Amino acid sequence: MNTIARPLTLLALLTATLSAQTPDHQLARDILRELIETNTTPSAGDCTAAAQLVAKRLRAAGFPEADVQVVVPAPKQGNLIARLRGRGTARPIVFLAHLDVVEARRDDWSVDPFRLLERDGYFYGRGTQDIKGDAALLVANFIRLKREGFTPDRDLILALTAGEEGGAEPNGVDWLLKNRRDLIDAEFCVNVDAGGPQARDGRLASYTMQAAEKTFLSLSMTARNPGGHSSQPRADNAIYDLAEALLKLRAHQFPVMLNDVTRAWFSATGETQDAADPYRNALLRTTCVATMLDAGHASNALPQKAQATVNCRVLPGHTQAEVEAALRQAAGNKVEWAVQWPMANSPASPLPPSLVQRVESIVAAQWPGLRVVPTMETGATDGALMRRAGIPTYGLALIAVDLEDNRMHGKDERIRIRYFNEGLDFGYRLIRAVAAAPAQ
Ligand SMILES: [Zn+2]
Repeated sequence: MNTIARPLTLLALLTATLSAQTPDHQLARDILRELIETNTTPSAGDCTAAAQLVAKRLRAAGFPEADVQVVVPAPKQGNLIARLRGRGTARPIVFLAHLDVVEARRDDWSVDPFRLLERDGYFYGRGTQDIKGDAALLVANFIRLKREGFTPDRDLILALTAGEEGGAEPNGVDWLLKNRRDLIDAEFCVNVDAGGPQARDGRLASYTMQAAEKTFLSLSMTARNPGGHSSQPRADNAIYDLAEALLKLRAHQFPVMLNDVTRAWFSATGETQDAADPYRNALLRTTCVATMLDAGHASNALPQKAQATVNCRVLPGHTQAEVEAALRQAAGNKVEWAVQWPMANSPASPLPPSLVQRVESIVAAQWPGLRVVPTMETGATDGALMRRAGIPTYGLALIAVDLEDNRMHGKDERIRIRYFNEGLDFGYRLIRAVAAAPAQ
């Protein structure tokens, strides 16, 4: 009796502990391990190696050779593009994540950044949060859908790309759009590197649907002067001229400009349009701020040149010419301006009610009671490149972020294993929901 009962009890215990675990959760974890333990930093990493590991898994799962491609525009800058064939009743959808990660120095971390470590309910490793965790979930779900014989209404494209974080060229999305657009052309893009569930103190607070991004523009502002010996100061001085212009710049504010996405954010969250809060201010207007200074050439000389870098984050709908004209007027005529990093327009994506409703219904099924909130990102992702190329893009991340413990790009990066497992199930619902062609 005992001899039979004991193994049964053990089995029951094991089943209870692993109740949320399926072979697909194990598969997702194995893929995550492979991705984390393949270094994809710009310095020592290799995105081609990571792309090939994923390609191997997809082919082993039954994806035809021709539908799994590793596109390598430069050594170590490989991109994986795979296609789950559909019936062709609607244009394809592309699911996007990047393979590369930000540098991580072993000395800075308390654990090895390039080993997947499971500890206290977390996965640790560079890229767990940004964005190999979500990439692994996309791969695992594509494999599951293939195994289940799922035939979507339209082709579903998986694009895992290189060069998103900077430091290595070319950017995969940019290169593909310019050279192999056929591989990733789609009715719209789901970018898992943005939006998604947000949690406070381990509890989900909202699901964000990112539909717009601000864009980056950097300018230099320079004051020049004949200079001279510092023992005989003159009335005009490049450093003082620049300082005056900087103070005028500080006082200048761009007008409040709401778009459909930010309007939806303020109404869904009930937040006030309080510009004293830096985040809300960044949602409300284009911002420009001095970020670097460079002036003078010797401690005993009058400065011939004083220069500041001014970094702008521009709202969709604002042009570079408009921003430059406003800055010139604000800073006065003692400084000259030059563009250091030009701006690339990226329009806000429309929020079709049919798509928003689908997202709301799968969020409700996965996390009852969680509200969906459209957002505009104040930073930038590869989604901006897709939008610029005319492909509407929605940031719909799968794995929740703990807002008070955001370690993206930082040390000891980690995700909760619970969020990872839920993200796998949510990703399955998401892919199936958006794959269906609209009813009309
Ligand atoms: Zn990222």
